[in-house]
Order: sequence, then structure tokens, then C-alpha cells
Amino acid sequence: MIKNTLFDLHSHTTASDGRLSPEELIERAVAHRIDYLAITDHDCIKAIPFAQKKIESESLPIRLISGVEISTKWLSHDIHVVGLNIDIQNADLEALLASQDEKRHTRAVAIDKKLEKIDVFNSLETILKELKGDSADIARFMPMITRNHFAQHLYKINKVKSHQKAFDKYLAKGNVGYVSAQWCAIETAIEVVHKAGGYAVLAHPYAYPLKGKWARKLIEEFKSMGGDAIEVANSQLTPDRRTHFAKLAQEFELDVSIGSDFHRPTPWSDLGKNLWLPANVSPIWRRWGLMD
Ligand code: AMP
Ligand code: MN
Ligand code: MN
Ligand code: MN
Repeated sequence: MIKNTLFDLHSHTTASDGRLSPEELIERAVAHRIDYLAITDHDCIKAIPFAQKKIESESLPIRLISGVEISTKWLSHDIHVVGLNIDIQNADLEALLASQDEKRHTRAVAIDKKLEKIDVFNSLETILKELKGDSADIARFMPMITRNHFAQHLYKINKVKSHQKAFDKYLAKGNVGYVSAQWCAIETAIEVVHKAGGYAVLAHPYAYPLKGKWARKLIEEFKSMGGDAIEVANSQLTPDRRTHFAKLAQEFELDVSIGSDFHRPTPWSDLGKNLWLPANVSPIWRRWGLMD
């Protein structure tokens, strides 16, 4: 029987807000029969050498695509740009990620301060202490601190009943713990991904709180800024929504990408789960010579 090639081009590890180490992620991806996996941690590429080493030392049947998910600001929105097939040694990329790291730190300190308003004290210090305490990874890399770390903390101290509620009540835009970070512009992310030899993909256009014509406007501008592709599928996206975004990709002459945006296994999302492509699209991986 011929098996279709399985691509999952969006995933996270403990180098940002994923729960699995680079090695554990690779093991799971192999178990799920993924052929091509992109690791795309938030503003960070530190997991990639460890994942690559795991594959090579055990001759595992999987290919790693070097990736990153860069946080950007567009109007007042946090928009994510995934870079795929990048050279992780590139100096421009390294400089951008160092600057994003600094912005993440500044924002984390500001979130910590905001949470004092709801009587949560020393959250950042506790998060950092716990990361150092329970992770062997800390000796290899310090994770990028994300809002997911604060969400997990609020859940652990019983401030909220679920991880999701931490966003809904405190951390999402419009709530008391939200801090608008000064992320780079979309153009900057695209330019740096290109300088690093990669392709720039608009991450999950279906996930932003953009009403009416604004999602379309974002895609149109992403193209005019030199973007290469948009994501049109994750594990949960309905066929209608996939087709909708596939049509927008076609209209603006963009390629498409797919990825689970894996952070941890859940009943509704997993590595490689339900990642079929809608019809009439041009997958980004054909640009680097791979066939589906
Ligand atoms: P950050 O880049 O630090 O602002 O964190 C963004 C991450 O938090 C995303 O990649 C998601 O994993 C998670 N996230 C953001 N907004 C929400 C939300 N409304 N509900 C659940 N998770 C969210
Ligand atoms: Mn995340
Ligand atoms: Mn994202
Ligand atoms: Mn992601």
C-alpha cells in the first residue's frame, strides 16, 4: 500500500511553551508516522539541534524542517509568522530572536506586575524557579517565557479552574493581565526569514480575533509584504474553513502550509492529526523540492 507523505509543519517543544522535550517530540512524531516535522518554537530555535541529533543518532525515519514562530505586531494585533526551512546559524535571524527574547522578558516582568492587581505575587519568580526545578532541559536551554507559562501558574495556584480560563479571565487581550508587547513588524519577520534562506508562512489566520474583512486584509497585506504561504489546516479546522482559506490563498497567489500547532497531546489535537489539504492549493514544500 502506498502511504501519503505526512507533513506537520508547526509544533512546539519545552524550548518555548510545548510540554515535550525535543527528543520526546521526535519520538511522538515517529510514532505518529510523520515524514516531515517542523519544530517552530516561539521566537526560538534552540530545540532544533537536539531534535536533529536524536534523529541522526538513532537513524529515525523522519526529516526535521528547521522552523520558528515569530511574534509580530500588525495594527494592534499579535500576528504569528512561521519561518520554515531556515538556516538556524543565520546572523540576522539570531539578532532578531535575541531582540524578541528581550521583549519577552520585558513583557513577562510587566505581566508579573499586572497580576499583582489580582493578588498574585511573584508569579515570574515562581515560574522561573519551577522551570529550573523540574526540567532537565534547563541545563541545555532556558525556555522562552510565554503567556502559557503564566496560564499554567494561575491554574496551579487555583486562581482559575482551567488553563483556558486563565486566558479568558486574565491573560487574553482586554483583560487585566494582558500586556501589549512591542513585537517586530510582519515585514521584519518575513525579511529575516528570507535572509535565513527560509519561507515565511502566516500562522493560523483562522485564530485571530479579526472580524469581517480584516482577516482578508491581513492575508492581502502579508502577500504584498513578500509572504510566501498561509496555513490552511490544523487538527480541528472544519472542511468549510479550510476551503475558505484555500480560496484566499489562491486569490492572493500564496502557497499553503499545514500544521497541528502541537503543544501537548489533547483529545482534539495531536501531531499529524487530521492534517489533510483542501483542493486546488500549492503546498509550500514543493518549493523545496518535496512532493506530496
Ligand atoms: P505569547 O506568545 O507569549 O503571547 O503566548 C501565545 C501562546 O499562548 C500561543 O501560542 C498559545 O499557545 C497561547 N494562547 C494565546 N492566546 C490564547 C487563548 N486565547 N487561549 C488559549 N491559549 C492562548
Ligand atoms: Mn504557543
Ligand atoms: Mn501561534
Ligand atoms: Mn504555534
